[in-house]
Amino acid sequence: MRRDEILSEKLARLKLQLETLKLHGHQYVEFSGNNNWIAKLRDEASVFAPAPPAGSTKLKDNVAVVTPGKSSSGSGELDLIAQEVKSCELCPLAKSRTNTVFGVGDAKARLMFIGEAPGRDEDLKGEPFVGRAGALLTRMIKGMGLERGDVYIANIIKCRPPKNRNPEPVEVDNCEPYLKRQINIIKPEIICALGAVSAQTLLKTKTPISKLRGRLHQYQGAPLLPTFHPAYLLRNPSAKTEAWSDLQMIMKKLGLKIPDK
Ligand code: SF4
Repeated sequence: MRRDEILSEKLARLKLQLETLKLHGHQYVEFSGNNNWIAKLRDEASVFAPAPPAGSTKLKDNVAVVTPGKSSSGSGELDLIAQEVKSCELCPLAKSRTNTVFGVGDAKARLMFIGEAPGRDEDLKGEPFVGRAGALLTRMIKGMGLERGDVYIANIIKCRPPKNRNPEPVEVDNCEPYLKRQINIIKPEIICALGAVSAQTLLKTKTPISKLRGRLHQYQGAPLLPTFHPAYLLRNPSAKTEAWSDLQMIMKKLGLKIPDK
């Protein structure tokens, strides 16, 4: 890797870490002590870097200011956040996890599915929505005329809660910023929240899924449509009709052809 590339990557990492701090409630980060390395990094990067990134981190009077911008290489930025998540110990779930479960799919997906948290299979594999529920989600995606790799799939919580219990508020508070960063990079045209816990957590409501589904809400600047969780559909096959109607709403929004009956 060339020197300018190394410096650019270091700056990108710094930017992402600052975004995490910002999403955790910090408005700005002031560096104290010897921060010559930051100035050096900034100066060298400005000399060697070919062009500034669309969303840039500026250093002014020892204060790092993060400005939003569209990613030019979404998968690279997602990889950097995935690395952060791998070493995250912000909540107690870090102790019991086998793997972190960051997300899979197209970094520029038009459609993003969001569940609540990894289960046992996901924890073992490090991938969201595997096992029987995952297989049904894959069939639902195919039913929309898409492949699993065309969409992006993630959970709100990146580590498995013990015994698959619902995430605690403190876990959501700590982990949701990672999801928001994923959304900011992917910029999906529409989000599908899978299941009651996901929809209620994202929308900060206790309204039942039966009342939330079937209509559009907003989350992180994107339309969000809740539907039933595939695991619920496995237990209650009669609800598949409503879930299919929800998926058709998403297809209409994306301009996808709805198959004839
Ligand atoms: S659940 Fe999220 S916040 Fe908690 S340790 Fe895992 S990655 Fe970090």
